[in-house]
Amino acid sequence: MNDPTAALQATSAVSRRAAELASIPSFLRVEAYISSRLDKTGGCDFTFGNPHQMPAERYVDTLREALTPHNDQWFAYQTNGEAARAAAAGSLQELLEVPFQPEDIFLTTGGFAAIALALKTVADPGDEVIYSLPPWFLYEPLVLEAGLVPVKVNIDTTTFDLDLEAIDAAITDRTRVVIVNSPNNPTGRIYPPELLQRLAALLEAASARTGRRIYLVSDEAYNRIVFDGLRFHSPVEFYPHALLAYSFGKTHLSPGQRVGYLALPPTMPYRDALRPAISGLQVAMGWVYPNALLQHALPKLEKFSIDVGQLQRRRDRLVDALGGMGYTVHRPEGTFYLYVASPVPDDEAFTASLARRNVFVLPGVLFETPGFFRISLTANEDMIERSLPAFEAAMKESRPD
Ligand code: PMP
Repeated sequence: MNDPTAALQATSAVSRRAAELASIPSFLRVEAYISSRLDKTGGCDFTFGNPHQMPAERYVDTLREALTPHNDQWFAYQTNGEAARAAAAGSLQELLEVPFQPEDIFLTTGGFAAIALALKTVADPGDEVIYSLPPWFLYEPLVLEAGLVPVKVNIDTTTFDLDLEAIDAAITDRTRVVIVNSPNNPTGRIYPPELLQRLAALLEAASARTGRRIYLVSDEAYNRIVFDGLRFHSPVEFYPHALLAYSFGKTHLSPGQRVGYLALPPTMPYRDALRPAISGLQVAMGWVYPNALLQHALPKLEKFSIDVGQLQRRRDRLVDALGGMGYTVHRPEGTFYLYVASPVPDDEAFTASLARRNVFVLPGVLFETPGFFRISLTANEDMIERSLPAFEAAMKESRPD
């Protein structure tokens, strides 16, 4: 395929920034291609974290109620709605036992905008942003669009933990942000508190060494999708110079609805200076507040969650079944995903062999870690059961005796 970036750069119609981002539509084309094949084949869809069952009635009823105007300002411009902010601060306090304040919650159109807002709040064009591979595959465009430079380091692929030495070695005097994603997409790993403590000490020492504060952006889209009764620990509990990005898209399993927030922990210094800067960016980035309907519904929706126990049962069914077939698979501690070692080094070839059997997963190359593939647990039980013979046949085919 022609390189769209090179082709666009040759024309004067497109800005350099937009030309740099022209590879994103190819990701959308992958999505469209998979969806069209799925529609034709009735296949098993383990690709993206999309719902494959009807939404809960309580969720829909809450939206329906929020649609009914209580006053003539119901659909007026909304900013950081007070009730929604208070509800979000309250549940963060409960989850993390950190006294978040309502004025430190900045409502956004999902995790995407919260991460972009965090990056633009603390980093200037040309600054470097470190994150670990495999990443959520849309960090790169968010970083590039902000005029920043992505710096990627590997994780420890045996434990799926952060490689702190690799992070330390990647820090330069241009480093401004380290993104940490726990619970992690795609590995399902929740980083233990001791690791987060060591990361905090590392960032403190590195900031002193470079003479420039390094901020931590904690992407916690899955902080309530946690299994086995584990307690989630956020990096913001250990490092004060941290910004927390959250999306309700996971807890509600409604990623098309676009609602989330950026939060500053009470330990963050300079909050007085940061608040107006963040508010200014929310407007300047294109009024990235959630729409009026979602803001009215949020105080009630804050307490709503999909059935995490059901996800856990799907995880166990798949981990046990795949393990029994000879796949190497970690039992994820949270998130929607299993990150499975491909039985053959070429994960694209392996995922193609699954696709021929009507089972659709994402190859590790999409996450810049070849040799793996990702399964989304948002597939329904019927898809899971129907997929097992295909997983078995693909494994057998990869190991001819
Ligand atoms: N971070 C991670 C790790 C994610 O997996 C996602 C969504 N897949 C996001 C952020 C963005 O969430 P949203 O689409 O709800 O904005």
